[in-house]
Amino acid sequence: MQISNRIQSLAVSATLAMSQKSAELRAQGVDVINLSVGEPDFHTPAHIKEAAKQAIDDNFSFYTPVPGYLSLRKAIAAKLSRENGVEFAPEQIVVGNGAKQELCNVILATINPGDEVIIPTPAWVSYVEMVKLAEGVSVTVPASIDQNFKITPAQLEAAITPRTRMVLICSPSNPTGSVYTPDELQGLVDVLAKYPDIIVMSDDVYEHINFGAELRSLASFPELKDRVVIINGVSKAYAMTGWRIGYCAAPAALAKAVTKLQGQYTSGASSIAQKAAEAAYDGPQECVGEMRAAFLRRRDLVVSLAREIPGLKVNEPEGAFYLFPEVSAFIGRHAGDRTIASSGDLALYLLEEAHVATVDGAAFCAPGYIRLSYATSDDNIRESMRRIATALAKLQ
Ligand code: PMP
Ligand code: GLU
Repeated sequence: MQISNRIQSLAVSATLAMSQKSAELRAQGVDVINLSVGEPDFHTPAHIKEAAKQAIDDNFSFYTPVPGYLSLRKAIAAKLSRENGVEFAPEQIVVGNGAKQELCNVILATINPGDEVIIPTPAWVSYVEMVKLAEGVSVTVPASIDQNFKITPAQLEAAITPRTRMVLICSPSNPTGSVYTPDELQGLVDVLAKYPDIIVMSDDVYEHINFGAELRSLASFPELKDRVVIINGVSKAYAMTGWRIGYCAAPAALAKAVTKLQGQYTSGASSIAQKAAEAAYDGPQECVGEMRAAFLRRRDLVVSLAREIPGLKVNEPEGAFYLFPEVSAFIGRHAGDRTIASSGDLALYLLEEAHVATVDGAAFCAPGYIRLSYATSDDNIRESMRRIATALAKLQ
């Protein structure tokens, strides 16, 4: 069977692959604690589920408009105005099968072969692969734990070339949980103000899981007028990962291009899920704060337990639900005849020895780290950290 060069050159999604692996071990009866995939462990709030049931009874069973129901796009425009203080018309919003699809659509709709996309790293696994699909070039800008995983304006400026077409910012970040303060964003914006042709893509999917500083939307900076694309969705804020609804809010011409692309290969997103998402945006918002409070409690728990483990270097993430410890102290160590030559080996060792699934930092362009998702119960957090500590202590 011929598989195209385009697909052969793509990496498998490491987050999804590790989660699959841990599910397989579980099916074999192994008691694995899964800290690999990042998704809220809460159930979708009841009023959202009710709206979906109502949509079925009301016969929302036909093809949906390609960019999404107008009522949902109006609800998203109202959310952007209410929560983020930015104004987008419904015509500037395209709804699709998760934030993932809209990210990829925007990249495919803007990037020509050879165009450069600046990606601060550590970065979520799919960005680089999506740029590859568009035959663009990812220019990664590394920020280590010593700079709290945030790039500086000078680093951004040094990465810009005449071929730079886009910068991708994710705050709160997957996989580090780092959050840019409004002042730090202003520093990056001051650089971007000098380059009016660069599109700024702001991946806001973790905006509600933010424990510290006030968030400021990149779309609210006048210097970036008409060139910010907001990516967001209901997966993380409303515990709706399986419903697959996300959106982009973009300059009108780009929203139109994204709609054209979507019209040729997926059509509009699920009618029932869109009605559920509408209820999420228009309904009571207490559920969002309740989940954030639970994630904050777990953040404090996982950070305090991880800090007790000799050799792990841990910062304090200010958002999302990930911990991204540096593990280079363990590289080169041995357990019996097994050598840990990389963070990937360590993630595999933790899976096999401690039965805890994590993700290799290399998948996020940051070898030497591993990612732990703490979107799980307090008991699972305590038990997994105990297992990790025991397994790491065996490495000589
Ligand atoms: N961006 C980031 C940073 C993410 O972590 C995720 C979730 N994997 C997504 C986008 C995509 O989210 P979804 O497609 O579920 O809306
Ligand atoms: N946000 C999740 C993660 O990073 C979902 C899996 C994915 O789409 O990568 O683990």
